[in-house]
Amino acid sequence: MLAAFAAGACALACPAVRAQAAPRVVVIGGGFGGASLARTLKREDPGIAVALVEPNGHYTACPLSNAVIAGLRDMAQQHFGYAGLAAEGITHVPQRAVRIEAEQRRVVLADEVRLSYDRLVVAPGIDLNVDALPGYDNAAAELMPHAWKAGEQTRLLRRQLEAMEDGGLVVIAAPANPFRCPPGPYERASLIAHYLKAHKPRSKILILDSKDAFSKQRLFEAGWAALYPGMIEWVGLSFGGRVTEVDAATRTLRTEFGEHRAAVANVIPPQRAGAIAALAGVADRTGWCPIDPVTFESRLVPHVHVIGDAAIGGAMPKSAFTANAQAKAGASAIIALLRGREPAEPKLINTCYSLLAPDYGISIAGVYTPQNGLLAEVEGAGGTSPLDAPAGVRAEEAAYGEAWFATITGEAFG
Ligand code: FAD
Repeated sequence: MLAAFAAGACALACPAVRAQAAPRVVVIGGGFGGASLARTLKREDPGIAVALVEPNGHYTACPLSNAVIAGLRDMAQQHFGYAGLAAEGITHVPQRAVRIEAEQRRVVLADEVRLSYDRLVVAPGIDLNVDALPGYDNAAAELMPHAWKAGEQTRLLRRQLEAMEDGGLVVIAAPANPFRCPPGPYERASLIAHYLKAHKPRSKILILDSKDAFSKQRLFEAGWAALYPGMIEWVGLSFGGRVTEVDAATRTLRTEFGEHRAAVANVIPPQRAGAIAALAGVADRTGWCPIDPVTFESRLVPHVHVIGDAAIGGAMPKSAFTANAQAKAGASAIIALLRGREPAEPKLINTCYSLLAPDYGISIAGVYTPQNGLLAEVEGAGGTSPLDAPAGVRAEEAAYGEAWFATITGEAFG
């Protein structure tokens, strides 16, 4: 019931009334973080009124969207609705949050309706920081798609690959850390290679990278040598990999060492927390949101929590698995705070599966805990797939990746 969140005169000014009313939590963003947190809250404490502010009628998931780009998966398999959340008593508010009135503890929606909260959760994911890459803007993204927010951009990149002639050069520009899904650009290169090997075998893929090392690097490079010999070239920062400017009209990418003209250019620009984070005052000068690692409460605005890609997660990578883990820990902390208990120190897990081919998967896992004000990795608790694993292990990991996707989307939306 949205009435529970009405920002009436008495919403916060009448303590006697508030003391008896259900505590109200407003969640901005219905992605892996926000949807998982809303569900966990409602399940663990049905007495809390939970509103999920999300303008879209359905969510489009990024994990496995690289398989859509490679023609291995249908886009419809990436779509998830909010009916499951509504059935559990969560109010889906189909609006965009445009600002926050922190003093009054109110969220202002695009239609100027205000929702009052006792605790607010900001989980808007990322925005592309196009200002950081000269020549790149929304119009350029129509010619050089980023496909880093799943949806129309994913389809566009797929269509461009289909239209490309055999022998064409595909260039992927990968950003510096931190960014959403550290292994994502390299999984994408692998699956595009899988498509090209079968359909346009004279083509090549060039990865221009703004860093000197990347997630699961040795596993990716060993997989590329075995599956796609001579097809994928990676150029790191020190060898001129950083793209400094693009010219969308000619699909040209410039680096400090020269320029590359692509048949298909996948430009993944630098990123920052979704725009509402800055409008709410929870993002700092880095563009990301500093948080307390126990409660996920913003270090900048009280009573506001930030989870998922938007948060400064310390050693935790920006992933759907992380967003879901932070959602569960964040929900427990919020319940404790609302019910006058001490929040417990969380232990969080992240695992990221990457596909190099339909039957070839690899993974990395880590365990994280609060340390010196940040989420730090627990030494020796994680690791990657073995470098010399037999084909059967790679096939099993590919299957685990699919099973993980079914589990996490089931937890968030099912
Ligand atoms: P999101 O999932 O982006 O959700 C944010 C939501 O907030 C959106 O629904 C948006 O509409 C909403 N929103 C934004 N602003 C507002 C506003 N002002 N008002 C209301 N709503 C708003 N992760 C993995 O764990 N495993 C993988 O295999 C994996 N593969 C990936 C592959 C690719 C190609 C990419 C790009 C990403 C991949 N990821 C993967 C990363 C994963 O998709 C993200 O880390 C995850 O989606 C982050 O969740 P989130 O809730 O923080 O943000």
